[in-house]
Amino acid sequence: MSTDAPLPERLATVDAGIADAARAAGRDPGELTRIVVTKFHPASLVRELAALGVRDLGENRHQEAQAKAAETADLDLAWHFVGQLQSNKARAVRRYAHAVHSVDRDSLIDALAAPDAPELDVFLEIDLSGQPGRGGADPADAERLAERVLGTPGIRLVGVMAVAPLGEEPRAAFARLRAVSERVRTLAPEADRISAGMSGDYADAILEGATHLRIGTAITGKRPDRG
Ligand SMILES: *Cc1c(COP(=O)(O)O)cnc(C)c1O
Repeated sequence: MSTDAPLPERLATVDAGIADAARAAGRDPGELTRIVVTKFHPASLVRELAALGVRDLGENRHQEAQAKAAETADLDLAWHFVGQLQSNKARAVRRYAHAVHSVDRDSLIDALAAPDAPELDVFLEIDLSGQPGRGGADPADAERLAERVLGTPGIRLVGVMAVAPLGEEPRAAFARLRAVSERVRTLAPEADRISAGMSGDYADAILEGATHLRIGTAITGKRPDRG
């Protein structure tokens, strides 16, 4: 679909695509949460999206997320932090985020601990590329990290998250994420969410059980400073 189409049209097209994929997978579209990733776009776009009924927004860099959350604090929005997170930013992210999708190591789990704060939803990010370093935990560490989140005050384990690696059919990668999700749920049955699927691969993610879709460019159009 053209990124020149008006925003309401792009949003409607993606939502129709999500509903179609859900039906193809024999799933209820109502059980899916579509998060609009607004990175590189101004707060004015967030306002336009909110006026269209969007409540779940995603960002991948702390400073940008913090600024946008502050500029739109009058709206009732849920901010999802989806990017790599330095431990020294963890406490600041807690102040505006509804969920962090990119929890992938002990030091970050410990930094997110907050005995007296309202619980923050966290997803364990799993690396599906087999090439660690770009974010995401080794799938073999999933249970151990899940236990650590379960033992940490102020955070609530809600599920797993991943980005499909380049150079592989996304559905095969998402199938591995689903297997990790099943293992995590043997420890934490309530952690049944799967954050997977972006503009180019959300239909594959839905076929493999994704519950939270993180969609950027298909809805927002081209990112301004990417040309
Ligand atoms: C940017 C981003 C997205 C959205 O990507 P699009 O391809 O623009 O839909 C999803 N997840 C993460 C972690 C991102 O950084």
